Amino acid sequence: MDKSFPLTGFSSLAIHAGHETDPRYAHQVPVYATSTFVFDDAEQGMRRFSGEEKGYIYSRWGNPTLAEAEEKIAAMETFSSDIKVKGILHSSGMAAISSLMIATLKTGDKVLSHYSLYGGTQELFNRVLPPLGMAGIIADLRDLNKAEDALRADPAIRMIYIETPANPTIQCVDIAALCALGKKYGKIIACDNTFATPYLQQPFLHGADFVAHSTTKFLNGHGTAIGGILLGRDAEFMNGHATKIHRILGGNGNPFDAFVLINGMKTLEVRMERHCSNAVAVADFLNKHPAVANVNYNGLATHPDYAVAQKQMRHPGAMMSIELKGGLKAGIAMMNKLQLCTRTVSLGTCDTLLCHPASMTHYGVPKEQREASGIGDGLIRMSIGMENIQDILRDLDQSLTVSQ
Ligand SMILES: *Cc1c(COP(=O)(O)O)cnc(C)c1O
Repeated sequence: MDKSFPLTGFSSLAIHAGHETDPRYAHQVPVYATSTFVFDDAEQGMRRFSGEEKGYIYSRWGNPTLAEAEEKIAAMETFSSDIKVKGILHSSGMAAISSLMIATLKTGDKVLSHYSLYGGTQELFNRVLPPLGMAGIIADLRDLNKAEDALRADPAIRMIYIETPANPTIQCVDIAALCALGKKYGKIIACDNTFATPYLQQPFLHGADFVAHSTTKFLNGHGTAIGGILLGRDAEFMNGHATKIHRILGGNGNPFDAFVLINGMKTLEVRMERHCSNAVAVADFLNKHPAVANVNYNGLATHPDYAVAQKQMRHPGAMMSIELKGGLKAGIAMMNKLQLCTRTVSLGTCDTLLCHPASMTHYGVPKEQREASGIGDGLIRMSIGMENIQDILRDLDQSLTVSQ
């Protein structure tokens, strides 16, 4: 609804943006569980297909429940600015990232990215892009000289693709500096903003062209659906080519998942505040714990990317990892002793999640290769939840074994 004043609060937008008054007066957006939308007459069908009249046709092309989620995320990503972006909801974060690559790259193009990429994205670069004549190039993008050297060395690089903060050591790269560098060389800049969420970090405000999310994580916030979104600031490209590619590839979101996502996102600000204040307390506690060799958390002044995180994030986030002095044995023991925290992969839910990559996600990966990507035997990845802090600390403390 048009208001005589602009909404200036993040949560006001998260709650209201994209919501349309329902013709049947439903307070919340209905789950439009329908594959098609009907036409009054043949002429209306014609007007819809030609684009002369706005309206829905087929749910792979668009659906009202999905539209509310898309507009909310677009509003949050551009909060406090006058930038306008368009979002396209996808069935998963990987579908959104795949759409981005297919829509922007052509045979011969390369993507420059940092080495601590999300596993699925890494696989996309390793398995999907090469047969299409595209490739990913990895450099340490925390070092701007190395980033510039890479751009100079290979003119086939078409995109800089960044993920910050990233797994498992919570490395951060400087979004504004990489956007400036990308602009200087005429490159596309895309950012996976999943770990931070738009409440903590807004890549578009630093100059990014595209933002991708796995909405499965903090945006949904309750671990109830898989989803993703691709957002872009070039309206013509997003409404034209990117929309076409999305419709053809068919990685569309579904109305029920969009509905639970919408519900989750309304509380993003209050949830992130709690996730983050708990994370700061957990990092502090573990940093002093005798069983812990190292805490990787970008909110600790000792983290190598502390300054970058302070510059571009509202809070340092709720993701961290710890390295146990006792290695593999201590990692397995800790996982088995947990009573409150949940043993699982993924992140961004109300409960605190712990994962031991050496015995779980990376069990089959050779030790040297694992260690090269920062995953030691005793590394525990943690997504700090919203339980009361004393209970989280108590569970972590009782699960840690101090070895001699
Ligand atoms: C989970 C995740 C993805 C992939 O998202 P899905 O919804 O699982 O497809 C991409 N990037 C990051 C950083 C993630 O954490």
